[in-house]
Amino acid sequence: MRNYHARKMDKEAIYPYQAWKITEEEFLLENNHHNEAIFALGNGYMGLRGTVEEDYPGSEKTTTPGFYINGVYASEEIIYGEEAPNLPQNGQTMINLADWSEMNLYINEEKLNLLKGKILDYKRELDLKQGLLKRHILWEDRQGRKIEINITRLISLSREHIGAIRYQFKAVNFSGKISLNSAINGDVSNHHHLRNKKALEVIESEVDTKSGYLLHNVKSTKFKIAYVVEHLIVGQTKEKCESKKRSSENRIDWIFEISASQGEKYTIDKIVGVNHSQEKGENPLSDARASAARASISGFENLIEEQAEFMTGYWQDVDVKIEGDDALQQAFRFNAFHILQAAGKDGQTSVAAKGISGEYYEGHYFWDTESYVLPFYAFQRPEVARNLLLFRYNTLAQARENAKRMKLDGVLFPWRTINGEEASGFFMGSTVQYHINADIAYALNLYYQVSRDQEFMENYGLEILIETARMWLSLGSYIPMKDNKFCFNTVCGPDEYKPGVDNNAYTNYMAKFNLDITVKMAEIIKKEAPEKYNRLSERIDLTDNEIANMKEIKEDIYLPYNEKLEITPQDDSFLYKNPIEVDNIPEEELPLVKNWHPLIIWRYQVIKQADVMLLMLQLGNQFSQDLKIRNYDYYEPKTTHDSSLSPAIYSIIASEIGYKNQAYNYFMQTARLDLDDYNENAYQGVHTACMGGTWLSLVQGFGGMRMFNGNLYFHPHLPDGWDSYQFRLRFKGSQIEVTIKENIVKYMLISGDKVEFKHYDQVIVLEESHLAEEVQI
Ligand code: BGC
Repeated sequence: MRNYHARKMDKEAIYPYQAWKITEEEFLLENNHHNEAIFALGNGYMGLRGTVEEDYPGSEKTTTPGFYINGVYASEEIIYGEEAPNLPQNGQTMINLADWSEMNLYINEEKLNLLKGKILDYKRELDLKQGLLKRHILWEDRQGRKIEINITRLISLSREHIGAIRYQFKAVNFSGKISLNSAINGDVSNHHHLRNKKALEVIESEVDTKSGYLLHNVKSTKFKIAYVVEHLIVGQTKEKCESKKRSSENRIDWIFEISASQGEKYTIDKIVGVNHSQEKGENPLSDARASAARASISGFENLIEEQAEFMTGYWQDVDVKIEGDDALQQAFRFNAFHILQAAGKDGQTSVAAKGISGEYYEGHYFWDTESYVLPFYAFQRPEVARNLLLFRYNTLAQARENAKRMKLDGVLFPWRTINGEEASGFFMGSTVQYHINADIAYALNLYYQVSRDQEFMENYGLEILIETARMWLSLGSYIPMKDNKFCFNTVCGPDEYKPGVDNNAYTNYMAKFNLDITVKMAEIIKKEAPEKYNRLSERIDLTDNEIANMKEIKEDIYLPYNEKLEITPQDDSFLYKNPIEVDNIPEEELPLVKNWHPLIIWRYQVIKQADVMLLMLQLGNQFSQDLKIRNYDYYEPKTTHDSSLSPAIYSIIASEIGYKNQAYNYFMQTARLDLDDYNENAYQGVHTACMGGTWLSLVQGFGGMRMFNGNLYFHPHLPDGWDSYQFRLRFKGSQIEVTIKENIVKYMLISGDKVEFKHYDQVIVLEESHLAEEVQI
């Protein structure tokens, strides 16, 4: 690890190390922006940033309030400095929707404002075990009246259209009038990216004393979004409470006036149902009404119980128990919680780079999903992985258009998208990354090998494989000066600091893999499900000749190797560029993406993110240990890790080649990137790929888990200072548990049929559930 990266991690932790919690112990404006992302709640369908309920008293620069629905976007024309033919014309931006979390408390006329009066006690806690955000405030106003407030917030994980807030308060040393002003504010706009600040309009609203709704229209894309709000005045609060309403064009306010008696606790619950017009259902308003009504009948306590039940099931499958390292235990759980919150699970949406926790990257889906998040799901919640792949299947038509745009066959999946169309106007950072096709094919194969979901492969998967493979055949060509090998020129691998290069090793190998599994799957399905195969062939004009062609070409693909340095060259030109090491770049000039003109970056042997290293992981069975070491030694000093997708991969390869310290440090950088804000940009939204990388570095790095050709392998080790760690995996319908303690590894079948795998060179077969097999490392 370079000094620059090590120093980043010298930062003091922002939150105390707690196994199941993230706690904000003090209300500080300077932490607010960061907290908004850390305390964001979501359920894959919608996400609410961790804003405070009352009007935020700090400067606008330290807050980006946001409520979003995954996949709901506005569109506007992309403006180019210089036009070129066939550039994407319209962008897509996840739109910031109505803020329904606003709740302001008044003691008489004095409004709760944490910068005025005195904060006597304060705590906000993200409870990872229960999936709740809880706030506790003991505040004294300027008249010396003390009030205790407890707020619990949730976005329901079992009812995707429901969000809720319980607001409780107690007048500690006085009796008198307390009002709670609860609102839904439809007068909102995006803070970044979208130029049009009037992209949304309220087209309908209705208000009653305790309930009401707003209906939004996104002008450019015609999404209609319904928000139905219901308030429940709980228990004895009812007798003391008078409700009033107020509405204007864009917002609704409900005012609950309570004649509070000293020492008594009052509770008001706010239940919100949200639906939009481009999802399954009748119409957004009646659907949102129905979900809000059902949730209100169940009541808030039930919602909490359901949430806890959901989380118990989730943690049973995905928890990694780390003993002896509190910081990493907390970080793993925090990341796994956000991955859960980020992932669309309906086959119509995916995982945005920032999840649903912020506006940056415009709510776009990248290769991040398939390469960093999907493995987490494939091995633990395969049904989610399936739906993420279905999203790609459902957008094949747009990907076909995208291929045509580039004069290519088959499909070219977009680099950035929400609706399946390419949403990036910067082709050197997007369209040129053709490898996304292979990344999707790789993930598809991974899901298939883990789940053995034949039905999926026959009905959806094969079509994705054939169409992605077709793109490669049309992109590449036989180049006489390269011994007539089949080459892919003018591409960009994962390392975005080297766009437009020839024969990026990652791309070439992954393209070959794409063709290889396509041919294999086509042969299998042709034999085992000939009718389906024939139907597909007819529909997409697939011929035996085409498969034969793929078979031939895949053997001719140029696979780069540099004899002199005995390493894998990142691409044809990389090794001939000006050599430089990260340690020799002045720290204030990093990250380079913000400080150097692209042309400067391109002339150096400097790397943004794992590229050859990612190849060493994904297709690790094709490379020797010695080559991995040489590649690591060559590329690591040149890698700035300016992308958060990078350290996890270096950690995994460092584990594999025995560089244990580096493995640990890069793991730490990945795991606590957002919590400790190493890159000072977590306020923009959490880094979901990096969070997926945490799991990858634990299970594939320390656990040494690999899956090649449908076989499972483990090469585990225990990081220094840890007492033990334990994780579970699903494999071919069974679930196994792996525990590493000192130099003993315990493998246990938790459920399902016999599982066979290799521990180093030893074959292990688990046949009977809950009977452990213990082996030495
Ligand atoms: C990385 C890409 C990544 C994107 C979104 C960029 O900085 O270089 O690989 O897909 O961020 O996370």
